[in-house]
Amino acid sequence: MTNDTDDAKLLEKEMDNEGVLTSDLQSEESENDEIRPTDIVFDCPHCGHNLAIDYRGAGLQINCVACGRPTLVPIPDGMKIDDLDLSPGELLTQLFQTRRMMLKNEQRIAELEETLASVKIRRTELEKARMTTLHRCAELVGMCQSGLKLQGDMANTLNRMIALIAEEQQR
Ligand SMILES: [Zn+2]
Repeated sequence: MTNDTDDAKLLEKEMDNEGVLTSDLQSEESENDEIRPTDIVFDCPHCGHNLAIDYRGAGLQINCVACGRPTLVPIPDGMKIDDLDLSPGELLTQLFQTRRMMLKNEQRIAELEETLASVKIRRTELEKARMTTLHRCAELVGMCQSGLKLQGDMANTLNRMIALIAEEQQR
């Protein structure tokens, strides 16, 4: 993490001074042959890997070269849509890319909603099972209590019988 942050600072510094990067910093970026001064340099929010993307990728979602997770390319402060100077073909490509991404995200949302629904069903089932268990426990406690009561009644009866026998014996 700290290394990547240092790299980012180094990158900025290098670009300010010379507009190009030294070869050892470029080798940090295995996916890019060359980092241009117009590139957007940022850290992956998931793994902190230092990424450099062509400025025309501003605002697009890319997959991080290090961790592979989808990452939004930041739009530099003050950047306008005119700054992109894209050809209609490039714009169309980006549009389709964005639509594909949205479609994928919608599918993911649908999947997550499905998962949520099944989790809710499972929770309801578990609650029902728990209620059944609680009912059964109450029933068992009731049976134990009536067993104890029967035992008490039996003891009382036996004691009364013993008392009656003793009375007979004293006559
Ligand atoms: Zn990453």
